Amino acid sequence: MAAVKSGAAQPLAAAAIAQLEADGVATLIGTVVNPAGLTHAKTVPLRRMGIFADPGLGASPVFHAFTIDQTGIAMSEAIGVVGDQRIRIDLSELHILGDGLAWAPAAFYNQDGSPDPYCGRGVLQRVQDRLEAADLTALVGHEMEFVLVGPDGSRLPSVLWAQYGLAGVLEFEGFVREVVDAANGSGVAIEQFHPEYGANQFEISLAPQQPVAAADRLVLLRIIVARVARRHGLRVSLSPLPFANGVGSGAHQHFSLSQGDTPVFSGGTGAQGMTSLGESALAGLLAGLPSAQGVLCGSVLSGLRIQPGLWAGAYDCWGTENREAAVRFLIGGPSNPYGANVEVKVIDPSANPYLATATILGLAQHGIAQGLVLGPEVRVDPASLSDKRRADDGIVALSNRQDENLAALDASALVREILGDALVDAVLAVRRYEQKTYGHWDTEQLTERFRMAWSV
Ligand code: GLU
Ligand code: MG
Repeated sequence: MAAVKSGAAQPLAAAAIAQLEADGVATLIGTVVNPAGLTHAKTVPLRRMGIFADPGLGASPVFHAFTIDQTGIAMSEAIGVVGDQRIRIDLSELHILGDGLAWAPAAFYNQDGSPDPYCGRGVLQRVQDRLEAADLTALVGHEMEFVLVGPDGSRLPSVLWAQYGLAGVLEFEGFVREVVDAANGSGVAIEQFHPEYGANQFEISLAPQQPVAAADRLVLLRIIVARVARRHGLRVSLSPLPFANGVGSGAHQHFSLSQGDTPVFSGGTGAQGMTSLGESALAGLLAGLPSAQGVLCGSVLSGLRIQPGLWAGAYDCWGTENREAAVRFLIGGPSNPYGANVEVKVIDPSANPYLATATILGLAQHGIAQGLVLGPEVRVDPASLSDKRRADDGIVALSNRQDENLAALDASALVREILGDALVDAVLAVRRYEQKTYGHWDTEQLTERFRMAWSV
């Protein structure tokens, strides 16, 4: 069998193979992220790169139903043991990792070449295309929060640690330096990297990119961080709450929108300089958040983090630089050179980042299409307001109950329209499995059991 199939894409692959060989690459990793937020991988020797790109490698549809406990499969009528799909890598996003490895993001297709409705990357591409069709351009910037742990997932000492402290940088100096080097080498633009609030917790933020590319780079960053951590005898927890009574890890996403070349979150006459489109985008996001939580922070652990006081945005409201609002608004200007943008704080690392972006951008576009009206901004910690005041101002506490959030997702015609029924039902299947199997566990048991569930 020929290593490289004939076809329009293949000469490109052949040239790319020659270049990669010259760069010392021998093995290619392709990844997909499933509805439970698990990252799956296949590898090929470099000569098989063209096949991995088209027609792709076989994979069972049950990939979409794998659950966070290493053994479970949330089978349904739609997803079972029969059938086979193709995972295709996107060569335009191929990055060299070093040590003979290269990586590319992959998407699911059916064997006839049609896009698979269960593919998170494919859905985000369609949301991106829909925005473009409406002359809207989105840029997305991801934040990766994580906690360093021992090889067996155990807590590391934190004698030398202060919130955002220099000690964290110096304690893990080699790790920090190698992550930055590796990211540079792989073409990932780190904006900043710093110790976070929790012991042994760090955050890396990435430069804004087009939505699909941004999620791809986040996956790549997770791989880079995990590889460097291993070299230092460490592992990376991507759990929304790695330790009971500890600090949570978010996976905040910032986004900006432009119509044509005109930003919608600045230069207008609305709240904080927004245009009317910007206000409606924000209104759409806020209106949709309660029914989107099942996608954004829908795991059995996620509710443990959605609590007032944890900077996770537990109230469904917006406020300029308000870290207790589900949506923090950042004004453009010299201090925010990428321009005004909004940060969605409720998202956590258990979410599939492609689906999370697809959902928030879909909600924003819906708000624009409907001309929704934005409520007043919240200038204080919403928890400091009386219940009556919050009720009067329409500030709702987001639910931290997985069953409630999944029921709201199930009932949301809008999120179903944005993501498609297939994907919403797949998210519901894996999360309901969690609810049924582990929903009655206490915080200690849940954090212990799933600390490394999303680790790569
Ligand atoms: N760790 C917080 C969270 O769970 C976020 C802290 C911050 O605002 O960066 O979302
Ligand atoms: Mg942070």
